[in-house]
Amino acid sequence: MKLLILDSGHAEYVAGREAPDKSMREWEFNNDMQYKIKNLAEKHGITVFLTNPYPQQKDEMGLTKRAEIANGYWALKQKPPALFFSIHANAYKNEFNEARGTETYIASNASQNSKNAAKYVQESVYKMIKSIDTNAKDRGVKVADFTVIYKANMPSILAEYAFYTNKEDLKILKENRDQLAEATIQGICKYFGIEYIPTEPEKPDPPIDPDPPVEQPKLYENCVVYSGQVDENIAQILSWDLKDYVVVDLSVYKEGLGKNIYVVGAACGKLKGDYNFYGKDRWETLDMVMNYIKK
Ligand SMILES: [Zn+2]
Repeated sequence: MKLLILDSGHAEYVAGREAPDKSMREWEFNNDMQYKIKNLAEKHGITVFLTNPYPQQKDEMGLTKRAEIANGYWALKQKPPALFFSIHANAYKNEFNEARGTETYIASNASQNSKNAAKYVQESVYKMIKSIDTNAKDRGVKVADFTVIYKANMPSILAEYAFYTNKEDLKILKENRDQLAEATIQGICKYFGIEYIPTEPEKPDPPIDPDPPVEQPKLYENCVVYSGQVDENIAQILSWDLKDYVVVDLSVYKEGLGKNIYVVGAACGKLKGDYNFYGKDRWETLDMVMNYIKK
């Protein structure tokens, strides 16, 4: 069993921690990311535990409590290979400014495993952001004793994906979450020694064939051609005794529609060629065909 403990930073109703233009709040990003990462981790066979599954709370959950919950669950599962991963986005001052970039934290008491995990996630996430925005900044792995990672008993890191007080970074935080999650899981897989399987991009709809094959019209045994509404009635009467037939108006008739062509009334003069039956008017055609059928 490989255990990933996700710790989504902050609660909803805590003041501050939002983009200067109020277009994104940090808790919402953290929460969205934890579920995206959870999804991908589980697809890779990693067990996921959330310290803060419902951040829609009035108060911040204490940082010590988050670490205690993680420690308790890890002990309960007999201390399997694990990673405590705290999800955050960064801020500098209250207005948009130039400070930007991606950084990952470990505590001063970090194990080698923590250091490896931080390196892999940092590299992978930064590389992805750089592929979107060439001005992306790699702030590297840093050491700071944030309570959550300091008090977690298993290897632990804290990611600050990017700055929501920087316009370019904010755009990525809002628009590229699937890719951020994908890059994160890539780093986490490397840490656990699991083969990373990229998510298949959704298949686009097949292109519409600009030149669809021309359908060959069916060749009927019998084809009754008429012109005008009165003759249509005669044509229909004619068709009663026919098998495998089609009744068409002269305007849509095409050669090759039937083996036996019956031409009714007014259509007679307009249709050129050799036909089984025609007459000087619709009644003559009808008589001829009726006689033929009775034979
Ligand atoms: Zn935060």
